[in-house]
Amino acid sequence: MNTQKRIQKLDTKTINQIAAGEVVERPASVIKELIENSIDANATEITIELKNGGKTLIKIIDNGLGLHKDDFGLVFERHATSKIAKLDDLESEKTLGFRGEALASIASISQIEFASNGNSIDENGSLNPKPMASGTQVAVKNLFYNTPARSKFLKTDQTEYKKCLEIIESYALAQPEVAFRLIHNEKQILNLPKADLKQRIADVLGQDFASKLLKIAYLSKELTITGFISKPELAKDRAYNQHLIVNGRPISAPYFIHAIKNAYGSTVFPQEKPPFVLQIDINPAEVDMNVHPRKEEARFHFQSMVYSKLMQAVKHTLNENILTPKMDFSLKNAESFMQQKSIEGLKSIPPEPQIQNSMKMFDPSSFEREKRSLTEAQKEPETTLKPIAQVANSYIICRSEDGLVIVDQHAAHERVMYEKLKEEANKKDPQTQPLLVPEELELSRNELETLSEAQKILEKIGFHIEPMPNKKISIQAIPAKFSKNDLHELIHGLLQDLEENAEFKKLDQIEDIVINYAACRGAIKFGQPLTIDEQIALISQMETIAHKQYSCPHGRPTMISLSLDDLEKEFKRRK
Ligand code: ADP
Ligand code: MG
Repeated sequence: MNTQKRIQKLDTKTINQIAAGEVVERPASVIKELIENSIDANATEITIELKNGGKTLIKIIDNGLGLHKDDFGLVFERHATSKIAKLDDLESEKTLGFRGEALASIASISQIEFASNGNSIDENGSLNPKPMASGTQVAVKNLFYNTPARSKFLKTDQTEYKKCLEIIESYALAQPEVAFRLIHNEKQILNLPKADLKQRIADVLGQDFASKLLKIAYLSKELTITGFISKPELAKDRAYNQHLIVNGRPISAPYFIHAIKNAYGSTVFPQEKPPFVLQIDINPAEVDMNVHPRKEEARFHFQSMVYSKLMQAVKHTLNENILTPKMDFSLKNAESFMQQKSIEGLKSIPPEPQIQNSMKMFDPSSFEREKRSLTEAQKEPETTLKPIAQVANSYIICRSEDGLVIVDQHAAHERVMYEKLKEEANKKDPQTQPLLVPEELELSRNELETLSEAQKILEKIGFHIEPMPNKKISIQAIPAKFSKNDLHELIHGLLQDLEENAEFKKLDQIEDIVINYAACRGAIKFGQPLTIDEQIALISQMETIAHKQYSCPHGRPTMISLSLDDLEKEFKRRK
């Protein structure tokens, strides 16, 4: 039947539950809203207590001004706020909240107790006296208990916990003058005293990291930019520790991250991302925080002005601090660098020198050695494909029985590495190489958590890692197939990859992520020059994995062939 449905007004609870869909995505979003409220109430100490990654309990205790005794009836009302009275007020207010919808949303999808200066109210509106220290305490229990469809989208406790930690750390960086404490399942995780930004960075991101930063203080009449950027050598292939804070609020801002990256120019490789913690302070009239449901983005009235100031500020600091890159053209240096970067399994081949810096320069010794390595050519492995040349330091052109084959060097080698590691993981005793000097490395709290989940599989493929005090770990042994160089990068990157694929539970899924990552890291890079011998060695390794050689582990092709037939057609020799 096709009966018309009538319009009806939704009741308040349903309205709030719908609104909650935008504001509250997961426990971490509740924490964010509650922290913002505490900061807006001028709190100088904030304690966060969580149970089960925040799913069953999120409790925030602050020492702020608290709620006016006559306002209890309004805290869970939608569009009720003490922060603005009209939209224009946003232009002068620097408060983090202003929409008056967070508590209403949270109260509609959880069991909540909001207590302030001696009184409390729950989600049903029942008011009670409550003996307590001055300030505010909000306890949110059983998030999404009455909206099961939404609770289904929650991930494991561990994953939710990590999201909570992330958001708390980002606010801790944005508000160094506020002391933060975090307790998860009765265990104290963070205890950050009031600090200056530099000290806060050390407390949150690690002392090692903090000691490698460059300070920025850029003042102009439109805005100020303060904080820290990293020396170019800290830039990595992954985005880590990139914190942009606008008027005390952490935001995500790819556009401005681009400005910062741009300022580094050729001191970092194109795919690398420099870490930073930067605060932009600007007249609130110049920035619109009302563009994202969770206020995670900012729109400036003069986007391009902010972009260019940011770029200018970073450039200036880099120019002042970074001395001309050191280049050592001695053969010894070039060779030791190549050994570091030398390709697993292709080590016997004399390396082609490279300059470690992003600015590649001509090394007069390379030409001589190239010639030598060719004339001294060993018994070459017999391959079906015959490499002829490398193009753009990325593709190997080969002669085949039937025409021409173009090999993507990275994809091909990645597949080879993947197969070898997979084979290793299936053995009872993985081949490991103990490190003579164990490598120590500082991890973030998140990384430590991820590591503990992946520990078993890492051991299965040949890692031996011991925890140490102060968020450090000691790497005692690594899989035999791995290069000892760049271990820090390998571990950080691996943990990051595991985190991005956070919903792993089964060991073999973790295993696949680890092997995939290691294969990708260990493989010859796109853009890496290869001697003809190295090209031959790669092709011969590729041919040992038979039918698997045709695609990389991600399913992209490793080679494209052009048969003589195809060529004839292309050249219109044949119809
Ligand atoms: P908003 O922050 O946008 O005003 P909320 O729903 O988050 O909206 O909070 C509603 C009101 O409750 C706030 O405007 C504020 O007056 C009061 N409030 C919330 N949390 C606190 C707190 N920790 N201390 C004092 N007042 C608070
Ligand atoms: Mg708020």
